Parts: sequence; structure tokens; C-alpha cells
Amino acid sequence: MRNTHILIIPFPAQGHVIPAMELALNLATHDFKVTFVNTEFNHERVMKALSETDSVPELVQMVSLPDGLKPSDDRSDITKLWGSIFDVMPGELMALIERINGSESDKVSCVIADPTMAWALEVAEEMGIKKAAFSPAATALLALIFSIPSLVENGVLDSNGQPMRKESIQLSPTMPLIKTSDLFWNCMHDEVQRKLLFKFSIKIIEPTKLAERLICNSSSCLESGTFASYPDFLPIGPLLSSNRLGKSTGYFWREDSGCLAWLDQQPPHSVVYVAFGSFTVFDRNQFEELALGLELTNMPFLWVVRENIIEDLNNAYPTDFKERMDRRGCIVSWAPQQKVLSHPSIACFISHCGWNSTLEGISNGIPFLCWPYFGDQIFNQSYICDYWKIGLELNKDESGIIRREEIKNKLERVLGDEGFKGRVLDLQEQILNSVREGGSSHKNFDDFLSWIKD
Ligand code: UDP
Repeated sequence: MRNTHILIIPFPAQGHVIPAMELALNLATHDFKVTFVNTEFNHERVMKALSETDSVPELVQMVSLPDGLKPSDDRSDITKLWGSIFDVMPGELMALIERINGSESDKVSCVIADPTMAWALEVAEEMGIKKAAFSPAATALLALIFSIPSLVENGVLDSNGQPMRKESIQLSPTMPLIKTSDLFWNCMHDEVQRKLLFKFSIKIIEPTKLAERLICNSSSCLESGTFASYPDFLPIGPLLSSNRLGKSTGYFWREDSGCLAWLDQQPPHSVVYVAFGSFTVFDRNQFEELALGLELTNMPFLWVVRENIIEDLNNAYPTDFKERMDRRGCIVSWAPQQKVLSHPSIACFISHCGWNSTLEGISNGIPFLCWPYFGDQIFNQSYICDYWKIGLELNKDESGIIRREEIKNKLERVLGDEGFKGRVLDLQEQILNSVREGGSSHKNFDDFLSWIKD
């Protein structure tokens, strides 16, 4: 019998590709045929990283489509990338589906797209294919996007997304407040970009509503108020590589597993893990201050310093820092983060608060020190610090720098107060229960599988 064939289309950023790949692998283990559609640019990176780690994506077929930009174009310019994708990729996807359907024995039965790629749902609609959306970020943010038209209509936001009067927005009485300063489109540095990001956010609302199922990489224990107010949003997460057997794929960089052996040498609950996801970049002053802050803590640390995190990386460390920290610190360019966070030596996570990092920290019962940069990270910080109370915010001084003393003091506070650890362990238990047999995410995922098979 022919397997049901599913296409999965993530947004081309690392924090979207990883959970979408986790979803793909989960579906493949349930006997679906799964094709994962990266952009050509990311496909090359993923395949290169895979070849360097000697593993192959056995379960999922990897294909790619052009994103419309030149290889040399700057893809960290999100609005430029997004605009090009909207123009070019719908036609490319349609051609791909036609190619697959052209074969005797194969036919695409379902398209699952990231809401930011909701144009793919329009393609599926046009071609008469089942469609679902998969949200990889905090579900409250999807709720915020869906609420934009009414927020504008009620005069809370102006037509460019700028707050008209209130300091915070509450989408429903059971949901946490969203500070207007945390609206993710306002993270862009100039006004044109802010307007564009707001415009794109509006543009995905109607196509996303075409989805017959809207599944979210979240758990009802994390965002109970949101799921109560938006019953069509179905939590199926957290999707973590530890929830299933087998290797992961979808990473843009080769991971340096050597740090796991280094962690084995450290006492339990002694190491600070420091990582800022795939996008964040540092300026020289802040980079140096972080290095000196880690030195000041006197604790062992594992620090992920991506090659592109700062210009001229080789000259960015304080003088003799690496020599001084040779025994106490381990620096890698990309870590096997989920394995790191589950290591018994980890005590605290200094994080940029990306949603995946947030889920991964909670799933391993690790308290946070929050260092968000932009986009949804600032909102996720509010969840961590104000709502779940499992971490502390690192504050900048008047010159906009997080100082070394602030890092040391907050670390001592978070580790010195058992409340943070107690609350995160409690949340860990709930979140892991939700993906076990009988849990709410597990049940929603089972229902989703039945719907696809139907
Ligand atoms: N990650 C990793 N190794 C690293 C740093 C990050 O594997 O050294 C993974 C991390 O586990 C997470 C993803 O990259 O799954 C980053 O996603 P997140 O949403 O936290 O942040 P983003 O990169 O989107 O800002």
C-alpha cells in the first residue's frame, strides 16, 4: 500500500527548521512518507553539516526550492528574505507537487507549513490537498498576530502596528500581558523594516486560517490561558530529540560533541551553559564584558561562540582570557544543545530566550538568566521571569551594556534561591507528562495523526 505522503515547509531559519524536522521525524516513524522542503541555501548547509557528522537523514526525504535571492545576498535581512519567498516560492512549490504527483505511485496528501510560510497553504488549497499549520514559536505570539485586525480596529494599535495608548495588551483575561514595548515587529531597527514586518505578519493571517489543523510546539501547561482562549490552536509539544530514538538532522552547523566529555569531568550542578541561538550577534564591548563576567563568576562554563557571532572573532576575547580560562571554561562553535542541557553538570542557562532554547531548558529543569535580543525573545523572557518565575532578567546599565558584576550577581541570586529550581522542576514534570502517553500534547498529536490518515 502506498504511504501517505506529507510535505513539510519550515521558514528558512535554524529555530524554525529544527522543530519542523523533529515533527517530520516523528511523522516518519508513524509510517508516513515525509518530504522536507528547505530553501536551496539552507539545504546545502544542512547536507554539509550532516556529511561532516557522518549521519544521513534516513527517514525523511530532503528536497530544496530556491528562495529567489542570490547566493551572496544577506539572508539575515528577514524582510528581504520573506518578501522574496512570497514572490518566488509558491510557483516553485506548485511545480514540485506536480512533479511528485506526476509519478504513478506517489501523490502528496498533506502539506504542513510554518505560519510564516502560509502561502504554501494557499498552494495546497488550490491543488485540493489537505493542509495544516505548525507553529514553532510561543503560541501567544500566534494569538497576537491573529488579533492584529481587532487591535487596530479597537484603536490599540495604529495601522503601522504602533501602540496608541496602552502600555500592555491583554488578549484575553487568562493570558499574560504583552508589553507594547515587546511587540516583535518593533525589534527592527528602522521604521521601514518595522512597518514591513508588521505588514508581513498581517499577510499571513488569512492563509494560515486555511489550515484545517493548527498544531503548536508548546504545551498546555506552559500556555494554558492561550490554549483556553484559542481552542483551535492545538499543543503537541515540546518536540524534542530526546522524545524519540535516533539521530537528529536539520542543523546548519556541525556540532562539537567534545564538550560532552568535558562536561563529564565537572561536578553535578556546577556549570553555566551560555548560548544565544543561531542569529544573535555581539558587539566588541558586550562580548568582552560577557567573557569577563564568566571569569568573575568563578564557575565552570560552557560557552557557545558561533563563528559569525562577532566580527573578527580571533581578536575579540580579552587578553589572555582563553589561557586563563583553559581549565575552567569550554568554548565551542556549536554545541549539541539538547544533550548539553540534559547533562547532570549543568546548573544554569544564560540564554537569548529563543522559544526552542526555552523549551529545551524547561524540559531539562534548568533555571535561566535571560539575555534576549529581538523578536519573540523579549516576550519569551517575560514568560520565564514574570509568568513561570524560573529565571532572572539581566539588566543593561545606562550605556546599554550588561556588566560583568550584573552577570555574577544575578547568577548568584538564581542559584542561591531554591525557588527557581523548584519551579522549573515542577514545570519540567508537567511538560514531560504532556508528551507521555495520556498527556494532552500526546493526545493532540495522536488525533492529528488520525486526521492525516483519514
Ligand atoms: N542550538 C544548538 N547548538 C547550539 C546553539 C543552539 O543545537 O550551540 C539549537 C538549540 O538547541 C535550539 C536552536 O538551535 O533548538 C535555536 O533555536 P532558538 O529558538 O532557541 O533560537 P533562534 O536560533 O531561533 O534564535
